[in-house]
Amino acid sequence: MLSDVCGRKLNTYLPDYVVFDLETTGTSCYSDAVVEISALKVKGGSVVDEFTTLVNPKRHIPGFVVGIHGISDDMVKDSPCFREALSDFLEFAGDEVFVGHNIQSFDLKFLYRDAQNYWGKTIGNDYIDTLSFARKVLKGLDHYRLSDLADYYDIPIIGAHRALNDCRMNQQVFEHLAKELGGQPQICPRCGSSLIRRNGRFGEFWGCLNFPDCKFTRDAKK
Ligand SMILES: [Zn+2]
Repeated sequence: MLSDVCGRKLNTYLPDYVVFDLETTGTSCYSDAVVEISALKVKGGSVVDEFTTLVNPKRHIPGFVVGIHGISDDMVKDSPCFREALSDFLEFAGDEVFVGHNIQSFDLKFLYRDAQNYWGKTIGNDYIDTLSFARKVLKGLDHYRLSDLADYYDIPIIGAHRALNDCRMNQQVFEHLAKELGGQPQICPRCGSSLIRRNGRFGEFWGCLNFPDCKFTRDAKK
């Protein structure tokens, strides 16, 4: 939803969320534009609805990028502009928590930038970045790309780098990552992320999984 402040980053599992993904004309959140936006709505850990649209970026899509996602100028010439697509996406998402891979450094920057341009507002949905979540709950992998995580969990990689396929893969990865937390995690009262048991100089304590963004701790004996 449109808001005056950006949503908070959570590092936790929630059973209800909207996982989304963008394809773009390139990697710059200053000069590039969205060519596809897709999302899955998840309730109780299961997909209940989907949203997907190609987007006309009103500019040429460079050949090397077409080589990655396969979306060409011709495919988007009759598609809606991003103002319309983003508005539809936000209506689809409502105030659900966003989930996505590397969205803090990439996808959300496009959404925040364009919401600001179109409506003078940002986007207030809290979000879980599965890249940062995976790094915290799953130690020891060499790489944490979405495809690496899919590989690790034996999730089939079908049609990677088209947004809806990436959402499907991301949704399954997120459900697997949730199991790494084990049981019912305690929730940080300050930021809504999970708390995990850590060992410190003064013994065991609960620390926020969103550390260092959130520095909440609780004595493990309480
Ligand atoms: Zn916290």
